[in-house]
Amino acid sequence: MRRKCKCGKKLYGYGDGVHEVWVCYKCGRFVGNAGGDPIFACMLQTEPHAIMDLIHERCLKPIESEKNGR
Ligand SMILES: [Zn+2]
Repeated sequence: MRRKCKCGKKLYGYGDGVHEVWVCYKCGRFVGNAGGDPIFACMLQTEPHAIMDLIHERCLKPIESEKNGR
């Protein structure tokens, strides 16, 4: 399943099995799936930098769009 941003560029997905976030490095858009976690959902809206930190710390790992896990 491939995801694309509205700007036409690829979205890069990161996740930890529950939470998912898709980032466009072209225009900086975020698409998040909090997996029902209200704290994560809040972070997506108010603290995108915290999400980027999670990615950099590899708490959220790259999702390979070629493989369909489920
Ligand atoms: Zn974009």
